[in-house]
Amino acid sequence: MNACPTLHWVTCPNTSRLRHWKCSEGLNEGDSIGWRVSSLLRVSLPFLSLHSYVRLQRASHLTMFIQSLFKPGGDGGQTSDRVILDHIDARESQADELATNNPTAREVATITSSWKFLSHYLRLCSPSRALFRIMRSSKVLEAFASRPSRAAAVQYEIAHHDGVVHDPLGGGSYAFETSPAFLDTVLRDVPIRTPKELIINIGAQPNNSPHVGTLVTFALAFGLARAIIKSRPELDIRVLLDIVDTAPSVQEVHNGITYQRSQRSTNEMAAYMDDYMFVLDQFKRWSGIPYTIRRQDSFNTRPQMPIIIDDIVRQHEVLAPMLVPRTRVLALRRACPVEGCGLADKHGKRNSYEGNVITFQCPHHGPHTVTIDVNDPRSCVTLEYNTPLRNLIRARACLADPDAHYIRVTGSDYAGLYQEQLLHRHLDEPYVVVYSPLITDWSGAKLSKSLYVKDGAYGYLEELGMDYLLSFAKMKEQGKELRVIYDEVQRWVDEPFRLFRPYSIYYMHTLFQTSDCRAGL
Ligand SMILES: [Zn+2]
Ligand SMILES: [Zn+2]
Repeated sequence: MNACPTLHWVTCPNTSRLRHWKCSEGLNEGDSIGWRVSSLLRVSLPFLSLHSYVRLQRASHLTMFIQSLFKPGGDGGQTSDRVILDHIDARESQADELATNNPTAREVATITSSWKFLSHYLRLCSPSRALFRIMRSSKVLEAFASRPSRAAAVQYEIAHHDGVVHDPLGGGSYAFETSPAFLDTVLRDVPIRTPKELIINIGAQPNNSPHVGTLVTFALAFGLARAIIKSRPELDIRVLLDIVDTAPSVQEVHNGITYQRSQRSTNEMAAYMDDYMFVLDQFKRWSGIPYTIRRQDSFNTRPQMPIIIDDIVRQHEVLAPMLVPRTRVLALRRACPVEGCGLADKHGKRNSYEGNVITFQCPHHGPHTVTIDVNDPRSCVTLEYNTPLRNLIRARACLADPDAHYIRVTGSDYAGLYQEQLLHRHLDEPYVVVYSPLITDWSGAKLSKSLYVKDGAYGYLEELGMDYLLSFAKMKEQGKELRVIYDEVQRWVDEPFRLFRPYSIYYMHTLFQTSDCRAGL
């Protein structure tokens, strides 16, 4: 059989380790599974027996490799059993030969025992299916990894646990244990008969393809709406996604003051908006709940805005130390209007306020002012806010909206002191926020979108084949079902005692593995 011309092993330029395989041509659906498996064995097994794949993360790469080979056929390939067994026999006699002739006894012992270990599993049932299975099994990978070898060392820790999920009752999960208790609470301020629309409000800054945390928050918004409409079918309800479409591009420091240039990063954003729309469309289809998207422009020009900003500016001396305890000034920004400049004082340190007039400073072009006119919604359109200030303005705008009731859904990293001190104590009316469970890394920290995007964090998740949870684009690419996340979140909404706790990325990964098993993979 000729060597497959389409298989390439790629060496990582940073670590010089064999990291990825890729194929520029791809495998045709017409290729027989037997051919694919035998090419696979030819390519991968020399690596296995030479311990290149003994280490856990390598084996995990092989898993993805095998999965990708199997994807077009999908049935595990009964037809290839004979071919595989022939290969096993050939490799086994090679291993025996090696054991007889090779002087470094320990290495040989490891090679042959690894090989026999593998072939034992392969013979247990349909070999192609078994090959596929064992590569998925973390226990076997672990056994490979813990085998003694000169070169091999386990680089990634494996969490040991009993796989039992506990949902202890306490705090929120006790108070809102049942669906009626939970829904009554979030709908407390929505009258039984109301002409107003009910809006479930979420937000996003699309600087990458959405990761599992964002997907969970979105699924919760649609799930909450679905549960509400089931108990209050007369309500007119939709999901509203607020898009933050400005991002700081360059920062400059002049005389100890940080200035930034924001760009309406529409081009970069457009690349990711397709993924956001795809996800929203799916959730809309599954939940039957419509959604709309709002950009900052239309948020900033709502009729209530100048009244809210005017009030905040007039109270800035009282509000600022509470909203921004680090600088004790309002982080209200405006880009320098001089053509080609656009610099804005990031923390608003040099701003001055007089009545309804705000004066901003540009390090190159001096002062520029905004006069807030409560009768002109466009008078605030050039203003930008830091997150706590935007949060407060949004909440006040929601409460002042004559046409709608709002429920905010956001990540639970904002729950607690942050919202109590930076938001709720500055509101005159109750404002309902439902927090979506945080998806955490191994240490219990929030899975961070920006660490992943900017600093390339979470390399270990990539090597463990779990990077699909970091980016929806990868999830699609790897054929993982978004529905798995949607269904799980619906369970949390319907049994809300599951809603008041974080979930680890390993828990989410297990859901996908279980779903793959059910699908017969
Ligand atoms: Zn190729
Ligand atoms: Zn300027």
